[in-house]
Amino acid sequence: MKNKIIPIFVPHQGCPNDCVFCDQVKITGVSTDVTGEDVDRIIKEYLETMDDDSNKEVAFFGGSFTAIDLDKQIELLSVAKKYKDMGKIQDIRLSTRPDCISDEILTIHKKYSTSIIELGVQSMDSEVLKLSNRGHDSECVYKSSKLIRDYGFKLGLQLMTGLPGDDESKSINTAREFIKIHPDIVRIYPTLTIRDSELERMYNDGRYKPQTLDEAIDIVKKLIVMFESNEIQVIRVGLQATDELSGGSIVDGPFHPAFGEMVESRMIRDYIELFLKENGYLNTADENQTKKDSRKYMQRSRKKVVITTKNSNVSKVVGNKKSNKTFFDLRGINLVTKVHNNFGYDKDKVDFISISVDDISKSVDREEFLHTLTKIYDEASVI
Ligand code: SF4
Repeated sequence: MKNKIIPIFVPHQGCPNDCVFCDQVKITGVSTDVTGEDVDRIIKEYLETMDDDSNKEVAFFGGSFTAIDLDKQIELLSVAKKYKDMGKIQDIRLSTRPDCISDEILTIHKKYSTSIIELGVQSMDSEVLKLSNRGHDSECVYKSSKLIRDYGFKLGLQLMTGLPGDDESKSINTAREFIKIHPDIVRIYPTLTIRDSELERMYNDGRYKPQTLDEAIDIVKKLIVMFESNEIQVIRVGLQATDELSGGSIVDGPFHPAFGEMVESRMIRDYIELFLKENGYLNTADENQTKKDSRKYMQRSRKKVVITTKNSNVSKVVGNKKSNKTFFDLRGINLVTKVHNNFGYDKDKVDFISISVDDISKSVDREEFLHTLTKIYDEASVI
C-alpha cells in the first residue's frame, strides 16, 4: 500500500535551542504559527486529492513538536486524532529533539494516537554536537530512543553529515551508533549553510567549510548501505526543494533537488565499475582519465555493456546529466540501458539490476547489490 504524507510544518515553535545550522523558517518555507483550524484545513485539502486505498499519514515537521506548549500540542494533535478515529488517516508522525522526550509527553502522545516519533539527532559525536550548539549529548539520544520504544511508538532518527567538526569517520560512527539503537526509519541530511544562520557567520569568517556535493554523495552512499544492510529503512536523503531553498536562501553546501537520486546513481556506478573491473573490462590506468581525454576515448571502439533494469531506475543508471554514462565513456565503455518492467526495486527480492557484456551476464536483487557495495566500501576501509 502506498504511503501518502499530509505535511504540516510547525517551524521553530517551542524550540528551546539555536542550532548553528538552523533557520527553520527557511528550511520549512513557512513562518506563521499553526492553529488547529490550519491543521483541519490542510488535512481536508490533502484528503481530497488522495486515493482511498493509500496509507495516509499526518506529519508534523519542523521545529521541536514536543517542546511546544502542551495546550498547543493537544490543540494540533486532537484535530489529527479526529481524522485517525474516523479512519481517514492511518498515522500521526512528528519530529522533535532528543531532550524533549519524557514520560509525561509520551503519555499524552499515546492518548492522542501519535504513531511515529522522529528524533533530530544529527550526530552522536560529542565535539560535533557541541560545535553545532545542539544542546544535548549522545547519552540523551539512547535514553529517549529507549523510552519512545518502551511506549510502543515507531522510532525515527535523523542524521546530518558535514556539520562543524564532522568528517567521514564521525558520520560513519554515528551511523554505527544508530544501528545499535536500530530505529525503524532514518533520514539523512547533508548540512547546508542557510542565510542568516550562525553557520553562515562561521562560514564567512572561515570557521566552517561546507561539504562539496561530491563529498556529500560519497559519504551518504556509505551510510545508506550501512542502514539498509541492517534492515533500517532510509526514508529521506537530502532536503526537499522548497521555494525558499531554491530562491537563494542557501549560501553554500551540497544542495541538489535530485540529491537522493544522485546518491543511488553513484551506488549503481560503483557496482557496475566493480563488476567490469572483476571481469577485466576496466583497468586501473583508465581510472585516471579525465574529461580532456574523452575525445580520444570516444574515437576508439568502446565495449558495449548492457544494463537492464526497471523503467524508474534507468535515470539512476545513466546518472544526473548522464554522469555515469560519461564516467564509463571515459573508460572505454559504452553503457546501454534496457528496460525490463519485471525488474523491481527492493520488492519481493525481484531483480534490481542486470549487467551483460560479451557472453557474461549477472543479475542481482537489491539485497545482493547492497551486500556487494558493503564489500567495496569496506575494502576502502570505511565501514
Ligand atoms: S532543535 Fe531543531 S528547530 Fe531547534 S534550533 Fe535545532 S534544528 Fe532548529
